[in-house]
Amino acid sequence: MPQAASDLVIFSSIRAIDPARGLDEEVDVVVERGVVTRVGRGAAGDLAQSPLARVIAGAGRWLLPAFVDLHAHLREPGQEYKEDILTGLTAAAAGGFAHVCAMPNTRPINDTRAITEMMIARAEGVGGPKLHPIGAITVGQKGQELTEMGDLKDAGAVAVSDDGRCVTSSAVMRRALEYARTFGLTVIQHAEDHALTEGSQMHEGVVSTRLGLRGWPRVAEDIIVARDVLLAEVTGARYHVAHVSSMGAVRILREAKSRGLPVTAEVTPHHLLLTDAALIGYDTACKVNPPLRTDDDVAALRAALADGTIDAIATDHAPHSPLEKDCEFEAASPGIIGLETCFPLLLGLVGSGAIPLGRLIDALTRAPARVVGIDVPTLSEGVPAAMVMVEPEKSWVVGRARLRSKSANTPFLGREVRGAVALTMSEGAVIFDATE
Ligand SMILES: [Zn+2]
Repeated sequence: MPQAASDLVIFSSIRAIDPARGLDEEVDVVVERGVVTRVGRGAAGDLAQSPLARVIAGAGRWLLPAFVDLHAHLREPGQEYKEDILTGLTAAAAGGFAHVCAMPNTRPINDTRAITEMMIARAEGVGGPKLHPIGAITVGQKGQELTEMGDLKDAGAVAVSDDGRCVTSSAVMRRALEYARTFGLTVIQHAEDHALTEGSQMHEGVVSTRLGLRGWPRVAEDIIVARDVLLAEVTGARYHVAHVSSMGAVRILREAKSRGLPVTAEVTPHHLLLTDAALIGYDTACKVNPPLRTDDDVAALRAALADGTIDAIATDHAPHSPLEKDCEFEAASPGIIGLETCFPLLLGLVGSGAIPLGRLIDALTRAPARVVGIDVPTLSEGVPAAMVMVEPEKSWVVGRARLRSKSANTPFLGREVRGAVALTMSEGAVIFDATE
């Protein structure tokens, strides 16, 4: 996948947008041997005449800091028929991501140094986006005994999570926060009180009653977020809520942030765009955990993303094969792929006025990078290029043949979207290029 690095790449007269440095103007951006060396009006100067230069015309294009995904399931090790590190990172590069955080609910679970190291070694062989494993909070994600978080961090893990399962014991969660704090690791919670969601298939509400499916009440999320905020307060640890879906959780987070607590949160594209009404035809592609909720929840999530109560966008890219999806609803596995559709779907929300463009870019770049403490992609001089060039007006149809992911479980198949990723750079190298 990685292309031979051109020693001199010039983005000529391109709209460059980097909210982290207050940049939104038409400039030249020069990348020499992988490092951004010039950003400014007419900055390329004579370099553009160099026979060695690759000059990319900026007309109709935007240059942004590359995206950071806090939440992807790459399925390796253990379920490579759904996705693997190569295909997952290839899809991520095509989606504009330079950094991908991989959840630990693989088979086996990533709860040890050896698995973290194996994943990083595999990713280095791919040469795509940088992979950042997230280690488990508890051994085997069983919710009892804490993992060796210091070992996981030494091996390259950037956070800990039992994603897919919630750490339900308050005592274990308190110890996890205290322990993670000593290593400077963020604890990412999948907030679900399992006692309230047993056997659930979708959001508990009018639609679940009509369809005769067991519901997942939003209070099951709210209870955990409320408790965890209290625990984050007493421990002083960095706490992050995965895939917020409920308006109650938003309210709790807003209150926590107003008191200056070290609490952050992410939201997925599908929770910003779809409601439980999408389940009316029993479409298993829309079965996801936490479930799609109501118009009121969607409105609360959009407002929270716009005002920064929700810091980051995360895909929760969750590939499944037809074995897990082309079956009866109650047997289907929850999950939606998201790496390649994330940007165009969310650009639509900017177009409708729901989210300011600067906030969207921040939520895909600086905000998630800060949650896990990795280098913030930026269009600044002196740093290795980590950037994405997009064509905001280009329309395309989400189709199986076009997706790089091994799986195609998305309710957006067949949807015409506007906004295409044209080129992605990570750590100074071009990792995706659709310009030719
Ligand atoms: Zn989860």
